[in-house]
Amino acid sequence: MMKKITILGSSGSIGAQILDIVSKMKNYVRVEGLAVGSNIKLLKSQIKKFRPLAVSIGSQSDAQILKQWCKSNDVKTNIYSGEEGLEKLATLPDVSMVFASVVGSVGLRSVIAAIKAKKDVAIANKESLVMAGSFIMNLAEENGISVLPVDSEHSAIFQCCGGEKKSQIKKILLTASGGPFYKYNKDFSKITVEQALDHPTWKMGKKITIDSATLMNKGLEAIEASILFGVPIDKIEIVIHPQSIVHSMVEYVDGSVVAQLSNPDMRLPIQYALTYPERVSSSVKSLNFAEIGKLEFYKPDFNKFPCLKLAYYAAKKGHTLPAVMSAANETAVAAFLNKEVKFTDIAKIVGKTVYAHKISKDMLLNTFFAADSWARQYAKKLVNKISLVVPKGDSIWAL
Ligand code: MG
Repeated sequence: MMKKITILGSSGSIGAQILDIVSKMKNYVRVEGLAVGSNIKLLKSQIKKFRPLAVSIGSQSDAQILKQWCKSNDVKTNIYSGEEGLEKLATLPDVSMVFASVVGSVGLRSVIAAIKAKKDVAIANKESLVMAGSFIMNLAEENGISVLPVDSEHSAIFQCCGGEKKSQIKKILLTASGGPFYKYNKDFSKITVEQALDHPTWKMGKKITIDSATLMNKGLEAIEASILFGVPIDKIEIVIHPQSIVHSMVEYVDGSVVAQLSNPDMRLPIQYALTYPERVSSSVKSLNFAEIGKLEFYKPDFNKFPCLKLAYYAAKKGHTLPAVMSAANETAVAAFLNKEVKFTDIAKIVGKTVYAHKISKDMLLNTFFAADSWARQYAKKLVNKISLVVPKGDSIWAL
């Protein structure tokens, strides 16, 4: 039977890889819905190639342009826009799986809409899980749907957990490439945007690449793993593994460690989420162990990468604090990419926001949204304070 899917965030790097897999599995899967933020040019080419039933784009004016374009090209795709459009796409009647690959907490409402409409969710949007993880997982259980990991590490953990009881997990070993600055021993405050965007193993979007450089990505992933697999944060251990061959491991109470290995290629976890519980052949290159020679593992340096500390702190305190941390991080990363603040300011902004937050313990969705927007405002004020004393543009690196 044909599996019908929607991809929220089809213009991003994960979205492109999902579509790459879909185009190789035409007899198995059909794209019914595509949603992008603003990349109208790419969306047009995706419409031409995949002929989806419906698409959504961020702004209303872009939606108007698309409608005209569809008319003159005799394309029957329905066009939606904005947050409403995302929710519409997340709930298309014939779709059984929604890929949530929007970046940032803006993806949360559509994830919730998909779950309520009883769609399985393949989640690449880690910010949603960090922001309101227990809310999402409870809702998924109530609606009897699966939340499947797309992140390579979480797909690995998922594969290592097959059939075992949660209570038998001693710890999860979450691997990290270490990012571009794992061995860097110069002044971190002078790290430029260009240096930070140059990731050694993975080609990804800008936000996640900066998160990989500060190791905040690993912090967010530790929280994501704790939520997805129902394991407390102190049972999640980060291991630096520069080769990115072991994608994560699970240690059981008897001391047995199960690992998942493959060449680093995001198409593998994406395909597994798509075909689970089946496995089908893929174009991912087989591992050649003799050629690899050695696999290295190191302890992460929490002092060099304070974002890791902040993530564990936020996860331990729980409730609204992970949402606050993640939102402050989004604001700080955007300011760094904009050259308004230094690399080292990211952790400072996140830290100050986290420590200033008054945790709220009620589990209402609006509480998480309120925490998120409070954190953005607070972090933005900190950004403005910093950028007032530091001239904008490249010249800040001279200070
Ligand atoms: Mg990852």
